[in-house]
Amino acid sequence: MTDRHNEILHFSKNWQQQLAEAFNKIDDLCDYLNLSPDDLPISLAALEDFALRVPLSFAASMEKGNPHDPLLRQVLPVKEEVQIYPGFSIDPVGDIQAVAQAGVLHKYQGRVLFINTGSCAINCRYCFRRNFPYAELQLTKQKEAAAIQYIREDSSVAEVILSGGDPLLLNDARLAHLIQQLSDIRHLKRIRIHSRLPVVLPARITDELIDILSQSPVQIVVVIHCNHANEINKRVIPACKSLKENGLILFNQSVLLKGVNDNAAVLCDLSEKLFSHGIIPYYLHLLDKASGTGHFEVAETEALKLIRQIQDTLPGYLVPKLVKEQAGAASKQYLFRPA
Ligand SMILES: *Cc1c(COP(=O)(O)O)cnc(C)c1O
Ligand code: SF4
Repeated sequence: MTDRHNEILHFSKNWQQQLAEAFNKIDDLCDYLNLSPDDLPISLAALEDFALRVPLSFAASMEKGNPHDPLLRQVLPVKEEVQIYPGFSIDPVGDIQAVAQAGVLHKYQGRVLFINTGSCAINCRYCFRRNFPYAELQLTKQKEAAAIQYIREDSSVAEVILSGGDPLLLNDARLAHLIQQLSDIRHLKRIRIHSRLPVVLPARITDELIDILSQSPVQIVVVIHCNHANEINKRVIPACKSLKENGLILFNQSVLLKGVNDNAAVLCDLSEKLFSHGIIPYYLHLLDKASGTGHFEVAETEALKLIRQIQDTLPGYLVPKLVKEQAGAASKQYLFRPA
């Protein structure tokens, strides 16, 4: 069968099957992209450290034959990952310190983050999750009750952020139950869902999921994660449209990544494309300095220069807030354009 036929068949399957068929072998991904593994700076040590995982929907947006494709760069295990970069560590943002109890991160006033699952549909090489002891921390079904009790007992908590890993990897029943339980807490104003699935596995946005989210008694905010306009393909667009049309508020967060989006034109394109599909640019994060990610770093001075160029080009509401995470700080740290 041709690639084209394989793709049609693949995309006709449900999201769990599509996830099960995600690329997990370098050779298969290279074959699909018409690249030779020998022409890429692949590291087997890096691969062993953090597995390859790429859904076909995401890989399908990569340019065939381009070893420098900005989407490929986000997922390819490369030699630079095993180099030592000064200042990069296992827990750069102090998350381990902020664990209030299993599965619950309480770092900021009024907001609590739930680590619902340790897994994601895609393994992003730049992610601090690669070093995080998620298996121990994630909210199992048993621990979930205790986490909900924690929210119930702290009336200062106005918002619960479902995160991970990727919370939309929970099945519908589990998600519906969680939202139901949280909705019963009187002081809770919002549930926020941080998910990369609308972008990397849009098949997850089923009618059933939309029903669960749109029928929630508390307001739901969805923050997607997209770093480059090419990620917004013909499957992502209807998934976002469906969320949007059913009353969900959509924001996007990106990470500023060398060789992926460290360019004003690329970032402007991303903002424009997001907005044309009803998604508001929220944050542009500086890289968290997690071991294995040093080759993605963009210097702060360079980041500020890029933001200034975007500010000089786009309306203010299309300029994402440039932020960095600082261990122990009371909020994300905003980086401002120097006067
Ligand atoms: C980023 C983050 C939040 C949310 O911060 P906002 O600025 O409200 O988007 C909450 N908790 C933790 C632990 C976070 O890392
Ligand atoms: S948490 Fe987000 S950035 Fe990290 S691997 Fe999962 S999808 Fe990628």
